[in-house]
Amino acid sequence: MSEIKKQENGEPRVGVYICHCGGNISDHVDVEKVAEVIKDIPGVEVSHTNMFMCSDPGQELIQEDIKKGNINRVVVASCAPSLHELTFRGAISRAEMNPYLYEHANIREQDSWVHHGDPATAKAITLVAAAIAKARGLEPLEPIRVDAANHATIIGGGIAGLRAAVDLARSGIKVALVEKTPFLGGNASKLDRVFPTGEKAGDLITYLAKAVVKDPNITVSTCSEVTGFEGYIGNFKLTVTKTPPENDVVKGLPTGDFASFAGFYPGNSPTVAGEEILNTGVIIFATGFELYEPKQSEFGYKDNEEVMTLRQFIRAMADAPEDTGTLTVNGKKVRRVAMIHCVGSRQIPGIHEADENDYMNEYCSRTCCAATLQAALEVRDGYPDTQVLDFYRDIRTYGHNQEDYYDRASEQNVLFFRYEPEDSPVITRESGEYPLKITVRDKLTFNEEVEVGVDLVVLATGMKAKDITPLVEMMKLPVGSDKFLQEVHPKLRPVEMANGGILLAGTCQAPMDINESCNAAQAAAAKAAALLGKGYVELDPFVAKVDIDKCQGHGNCARECPEKAITLENGKADVNPALCTGCGMCVAVCPENGIDVQGWTLKEYEDMVDAIVKF
Ligand code: SF4
Ligand code: SF4
Repeated sequence: MSEIKKQENGEPRVGVYICHCGGNISDHVDVEKVAEVIKDIPGVEVSHTNMFMCSDPGQELIQEDIKKGNINRVVVASCAPSLHELTFRGAISRAEMNPYLYEHANIREQDSWVHHGDPATAKAITLVAAAIAKARGLEPLEPIRVDAANHATIIGGGIAGLRAAVDLARSGIKVALVEKTPFLGGNASKLDRVFPTGEKAGDLITYLAKAVVKDPNITVSTCSEVTGFEGYIGNFKLTVTKTPPENDVVKGLPTGDFASFAGFYPGNSPTVAGEEILNTGVIIFATGFELYEPKQSEFGYKDNEEVMTLRQFIRAMADAPEDTGTLTVNGKKVRRVAMIHCVGSRQIPGIHEADENDYMNEYCSRTCCAATLQAALEVRDGYPDTQVLDFYRDIRTYGHNQEDYYDRASEQNVLFFRYEPEDSPVITRESGEYPLKITVRDKLTFNEEVEVGVDLVVLATGMKAKDITPLVEMMKLPVGSDKFLQEVHPKLRPVEMANGGILLAGTCQAPMDINESCNAAQAAAAKAAALLGKGYVELDPFVAKVDIDKCQGHGNCARECPEKAITLENGKADVNPALCTGCGMCVAVCPENGIDVQGWTLKEYEDMVDAIVKF
C-alpha cells in the first residue's frame, strides 16, 4: 500500500482551504477569522486562505499538503460545488489521494452573496465546521465503472446534427442520426446565403449531408422520432418511431441532393410505419429552434400582404428576377422596403404582448441583426433602385467581421432609424403613392416623428426554443426560463446536460449563428468521443448501498425508488448503481436503517448537524 493510501485510512487529518474569490467572498466574509476559528476544531491539521483557490497556485497548495503527508481529508470553502467541486477533486486525484475524501462548503452563493458583515462570517464558520465534521467521517470510495456502447444517437438532422455526426464517425464511433422530417439541413435549408462567409446554405448542407450519408459509421433515419427512453450513460435504450411522409412532400425531389428551401433529400424515407430500438452510449440533442411567428396585426402582419418575415423575404428574393434595378416581390415592384429589427425578441412586460401561455421572449435572438443587414446589402447590391430603410432598437452585430455588415450597409445608403420599444414603428395602410406608411419616433434625429411610405415591410423575427415537450418530460431534461435546453454551466461544462451522457449541440440550447452551432456541435462530438472512447464510463459512487445483514427484504425501497434501481434478489434489496441517482428516497423508507447513500450517509448528516448546532 502506498504511503498516501495508508494515510487515507489513518486518523482523519483535515486540510481546510478558504477562498477570497478575489473579494467576492472576502469583501463580506472575514476569511482570516474563519481560518483562525476553525483551525482549533479537532482533526483540522492545516487551515489556509487563498485569493483564488481554483487557480493553479490554489490547487497546488492542497497538493503540497497531501504530498507532504500533512493531511488525508480536504475541505474547500468557496463558490457553489457545481462550479468547482470537480476541479478540487481532480487536484486531489493528481496528488494521488482518493478524490472522494473531499467536502465542499459553499460560502459564496449561500453566504457572501446574500449576507454581509458579522452574520456572513458567522455563517461561513458554521458551514465550514459542518463540512469538516463530514470530512472527518468520509471513507475512500471508488468510481463505478459501467460498460459503454461505442454508439451515439443524434436527435436532429440540421447543421449541428450533421456536423456532430461527421465528427463522431471520424472518431470511429457508430452514429444514429434521427431526423423528424424527410430532409437533412433543418432551419439552415430555409436560408439563401449564410453570414459572415456569404456561402450558399445549400452548398454547406450538401457538403455535410453527403459526408453523412456515405459514411458507413452513420445510419440516417428520416421521418423518425425518439418515442421511448430508458437506461443510463453508456447504456441508453431508445425507441425510434418511423412514420412514412406525406407523398406530396417528397414527390419529384432528386435523391441525394439539395432541394432549395426544403433541404437535402437522402431518399430513405420509410414506406411503412414501424419502430426500431437503439442501444446507444450517448445522446446528442440537435433539435434546433423555431422561428417566432408574429401575431395578427403585429407591425401590420397578416393584415397586409406587403408585411412579411425576414425568412419569407429571403425566399421571395431568391425567386426575384435579377438585373432589373428594382426588386420585384410577389410580382410587385419594391421601390422602398422597411426592415424592422427585434420582432419577437427582447420583449418587455407591459410593452409587448405575451403569448397564449403568458410567456414572452425577453432574450436577444443574437442572429437577426446580422441577417437583416445581410439581406439589406443584398437588396442594395442587386437592386440599386430599391431603397432600404432599417428600423432598429440596437444593432448587435457581435460576431467576427459582422460589424462590417453595418459599415457596408451605411456606405450603401441604407437609411437607419432608431426606435424605443415603447415607441415602436406603426404600420398603416395608405391609398397614396405607397401601399403602406411607417411612422416612428426616431432617436437619431432627437425623437422627431418620421412618416415614410413603403412598398414592403420585412420583420426580423427572433428565435424561439423548439417545443420538444415529450422528449423533455420523458428524459427529465433541464430547461431554462427561456425554454431552451440548459447546460450544466455556460463556461465550465457548456455542452453537457445535468443528465449524464446527454449533450447539446446548436440552437436547441440558445440562439446561435451557423458558425456557433457548428462549434457547439464539434464540442459535443468531442465530449461524446471522450466519454465513449475507453469503452466504459466512470460514475461518481454516490449511490445507495445495502447492508445485507440488516436488510429484511421488506421491499419498501424498491417500491419507492423513482429510478427503479432496486430489485429484490433472494429476499434482499439489490441496487443497480448505474441507475441510482443517490436521491435517498430508499434511505427514508427502510425501517431497518439497512440502506445508505455512499458519501452522504446518515451518520455524516448527523455529524454535520451536530457541528451546526455547536457553531
Ligand atoms: S474557487 Fe470559486 S470562489 Fe474561489 S476564486 Fe474560484 S470561482 Fe471564486
Ligand atoms: S438513492 Fe434514490 S435512486 Fe438510488 S436506489 Fe435509493 S431511491 Fe433509488
